[in-house]
Amino acid sequence: MARPYKWQPHEGSRHAISQELAANEVGNTLCDLEVTASTDKWADSERCWPTCKKCDAVWREHEHLLPWPRPEKSKRSPAVEGDNELDGQASPCADKAAQFRELVTTLALLAVELDQQVDISAA
Ligand SMILES: [Zn+2]
Repeated sequence: MARPYKWQPHEGSRHAISQELAANEVGNTLCDLEVTASTDKWADSERCWPTCKKCDAVWREHEHLLPWPRPEKSKRSPAVEGDNELDGQASPCADKAAQFRELVTTLALLAVELDQQVDISAA
């Protein structure tokens, strides 16, 4: 199924623009900002920009997708098929989240170790 919109990094967030808009053409985002469409090649930093909530909401409404973030109740339900494709481009943000979790785990382990050392010296 052809999607009518694509994501466009603009001033710190990712906005949705018409799929029809070719690179260097000027058009409007779904939240009504004027942008010049860029190519599909994004800088790594741009890939991690947050999604514009207004564009996201309009897009979801158009495609009859559930709003995001999910209401608390349905958070644990399996993802709706195809939902993740909305992002369109593979994002290195997931990698960073994994690295961060690993770091937190390492820190937690270190803290435990440190605690034990303190206990030993105090005994
Ligand atoms: Zn927007």
